[in-house]
Amino acid sequence: MNIKGLELSELESLVKAEGEPTYRGKQLFSWIHQKWVANYDEMTNLSKKTRETFSKTWPILNLPIDRTQRSEECDTVKYLFKLPDGEGVETVLMYFDNRLTVCLSTQAGCAYGCVFCASGVLGWKRNLDTWEIVDQVIQIQKKQKDRISNLVFMGTGEPLNNYDNVLKAIRILHHSMGLGIGMRHITLSTVGLVPMIKRLADEGHPIRLAVSLHAPNDSIREKLMPINKKYKIAELLEACAYYQSKIKRRMTFEYTLINEINDSPSLAHELAKVLKGMRCHVNLIPLNPMDEYPHRAPSSKKVNAFVAILEEHGIPTTVRQERGQDISAACGQLRRFVMKEGR
Ligand code: SAH
Repeated sequence: MNIKGLELSELESLVKAEGEPTYRGKQLFSWIHQKWVANYDEMTNLSKKTRETFSKTWPILNLPIDRTQRSEECDTVKYLFKLPDGEGVETVLMYFDNRLTVCLSTQAGCAYGCVFCASGVLGWKRNLDTWEIVDQVIQIQKKQKDRISNLVFMGTGEPLNNYDNVLKAIRILHHSMGLGIGMRHITLSTVGLVPMIKRLADEGHPIRLAVSLHAPNDSIREKLMPINKKYKIAELLEACAYYQSKIKRRMTFEYTLINEINDSPSLAHELAKVLKGMRCHVNLIPLNPMDEYPHRAPSSKKVNAFVAILEEHGIPTTVRQERGQDISAACGQLRRFVMKEGR
């Protein structure tokens, strides 16, 4: 167990159990999450004895950076972290306007096998621990002069399939004595796990929910995303409506556009019909090609036509500019590249 994965209240109970005053818990939390120290020796307001006791029972582990790649435009940096068991996870830092956004991974590998996604190709390995999620942000923050303002859970893995660790990491990263990242600046993207969307709604945090839809009907969605066999679109949209009834925020539907598969004008009309009445926004992602999936992104003319139809129906639509394609930053591709190469 790494001390980085503990919430303030847990740290407070821990120091109490060690016979220390409760305020030590706040000191520890702030050293770790606000000053990003790598070891106890840096905690100068703690006695030598306290530091020794804690370093024996509660070691501080730090995720080492295995590789870094910077895109040519320098607006995207990708980090590959090495986990203690030899697994790797990738995390991407993006500069948008004046904001620093970090795209986090939540699992080593992914169990959902969406046909166009690199993360699932090698299957699911394991859930990341809370500290392994938190430390992706700490290690990147340490290297920046500006503060990280936004988090997106869109890296490798399905965040709602590692629910407890992800939610705990969010509470730690949000805490005002730590990085203090606003809940409204956090986006969680899901393949569409219906019961978990409802559970997240009941937490009441104003997190922005993004749902990977990719098709307006079950027959196409099922071919792209095996999860659709379990949760059909109607049921998924019902869970989304529940989320909106609890969390009063516009949500996002992600739609990866694949040439000749889900990009026709009639599907755009169908999508608009399906989303009618939802307070939402559609984010179109032109397919990022990968070897295992022999398709490509539609032409920009087709993408624009798709956008125009959705907007005609009053649905705000954006097209995601894939960043860092030159460094295979998109969608789990670095991790897979390294695994394929053989470490
Ligand atoms: N498990 C979460 C996070 C996945 S990654 C989810 O399914 O939402 C974030 C988004 O990128 C998802 O919408 C995913 O479907 C999409 N994506 C994955 N691989 C892609 C590719 N090769 N091209 C375009 N979008 C892709």
